[in-house]
Amino acid sequence: MNEKASILIVDDDESMCETLLDILEDKGYGVVIARDGTKAVAEAGSRHFDLALIDIMMPGMNGVETLQGIKKADPGTTTMIMTGHSALEGMVSDALKAGVDGVLDKPFEIAAIVEMIESKAETRAGPPLIDLKKYRVQPEALHLIPEETARKYDVIPLRIEGDSLVVAMSQPENLYILDDIQARTRMRVKPLRAALMDVRGAINLHYRALSEVENEIELLASADVARVPASRILDLLIDGAVKDGASDIHIEPQQDRLRIRYRIDGHLHDRLSLPLNVHTPLLSRLKILAKMDITERRRPQDGQFTISTKGRKVDLRAATANTPRGEVAVLRVLDKSISVMELPELGFLSDSLKTYQKLLQSPSGMILVSGPTGSGKTTTLYASIKQLNTEERNIVTIEDPIEYQFDNVKQIQVNPQIDLTFASGLRVIYRLDPDVILVGEVRDAETAKAVTQAALSGSLVLSSVHTNNATGALFRLIDLGVEPFLVSSAVTGVINQRLVRRVCPHCSSLREAPEEERLVYEEEMGEARTQFYYGAGCKFCAHTGYLGRTGVFEMLVVSGEIKRMLIGGASGKEIKDQAVKEGMATLQHAGMQKVKEGLTTLHEVLRNVFY
Ligand SMILES: [Zn+2]
Repeated sequence: MNEKASILIVDDDESMCETLLDILEDKGYGVVIARDGTKAVAEAGSRHFDLALIDIMMPGMNGVETLQGIKKADPGTTTMIMTGHSALEGMVSDALKAGVDGVLDKPFEIAAIVEMIESKAETRAGPPLIDLKKYRVQPEALHLIPEETARKYDVIPLRIEGDSLVVAMSQPENLYILDDIQARTRMRVKPLRAALMDVRGAINLHYRALSEVENEIELLASADVARVPASRILDLLIDGAVKDGASDIHIEPQQDRLRIRYRIDGHLHDRLSLPLNVHTPLLSRLKILAKMDITERRRPQDGQFTISTKGRKVDLRAATANTPRGEVAVLRVLDKSISVMELPELGFLSDSLKTYQKLLQSPSGMILVSGPTGSGKTTTLYASIKQLNTEERNIVTIEDPIEYQFDNVKQIQVNPQIDLTFASGLRVIYRLDPDVILVGEVRDAETAKAVTQAALSGSLVLSSVHTNNATGALFRLIDLGVEPFLVSSAVTGVINQRLVRRVCPHCSSLREAPEEERLVYEEEMGEARTQFYYGAGCKFCAHTGYLGRTGVFEMLVVSGEIKRMLIGGASGKEIKDQAVKEGMATLQHAGMQKVKEGLTTLHEVLRNVFY
């Protein structure tokens, strides 16, 4: 459908009508205003509206009666009512009985209404049919909807995009299903339309693979494991790691058992106990695959190999080392099917994302991504490159290491043995006429000066700095010998980020939070709240209570005033205060916002963002 949806607004509040009219017309919707129920029903009888937005409390014909009138005049209209404090409880249930498609509670933010209207209007217009076979199913997404629900509604989850879940379904216009999935997963649902047979086929394929792995791993835990070949055990450990989204597998002999642990979202978890007599055959198998010396048990070794499992290629880097209890092995899992994320998937607050995307559009200047090790800086840089990677831009990178290979991007690997460093690599890059330059990290004076120069001479430069806050990144460049006035004219923005674990939607429930944590929330958000979402642990989240991670971002824009302050020798605190005055959401605020929305826990935010 090319034409945008038509919307009927029914409200006696003039300013409300005007505001909505302005915004929605701006977005290309056809909008008609009716100031009372009688006029609204007449409008609905004279032409078709895709969506009617009805105030519940109006003089004369009230919202419920208006709703019934509109439904009668045109059953094809999606209806939403707006309620407020003054609305009587019974009216909302009457509206629900009358078949209203959505309820908006007043007071609300205009932005929230518009978003809701857009999602309803788009659902109405109906997403186009996709060819499901061309879509990949992300294991993390699959965990979000249990098989039973997927079969009941004929939906298959495809991927997580930030706080949204993209699903393919045969009836994307069924609001009941969308609302139910939204309520169960506590994520916004973005539906794509797919043929029913394709959806059922995908459910069979993906959920079966999931439960097969789980069943076989459970069998391993039983007494018969000694009869299972070592090669099969190793395959299963790798399948299980891919299924759980683990980054590492630890194989560790203990006094009475062989302990198997997975690292998931940065934390180690016990996965399985095997009898000790499996230890030697398992390590021998591993050493053969990784082309290590199988007779060597004392000296540490490392190697790598690739296996195909469940239709995907998985690269593994293996390392062994001797301990008093015997040889331990650690396998790093590099799942090749994992693609580079899109910027909206990373977890930016929507205003910060808009600001960042605007900065990315400028042809020159430098954007720095800061944060401690393991805070997701590379993921952000890669998502940025993905967004910038169009035909008209020449993108060149110098990285250590190259973690993902882009099409049409010239990527150079740092190599100290041939004297190829970030700084010397930059000199090579200049000769390649770049529009965009990615420099993995700024950590020495030579690189700092070279990137500043590049940003001032007409390239857009992206890089990362290992500092704990955004202003710290600016001062790091100054510490590395770049003049403050050059820093202030080169750097256009600094991102500061952390990763927090996401609450598992399958086992989460509201619980009382410890008082000291609540007080920090209250202080930051200016509102009291005692109950927060926590995961109890279930089979979907490997009994951790958490499933996947999301980023927390602070986006500092180097404004005219901040440039002046930087040259004038202002402190980091003063610059930060100015940025907040100019509308920056701090890292702490962005983190607490995720707690507020039930995406993560107070504990995670306090541990990763506050301290
Ligand atoms: Zn769970």
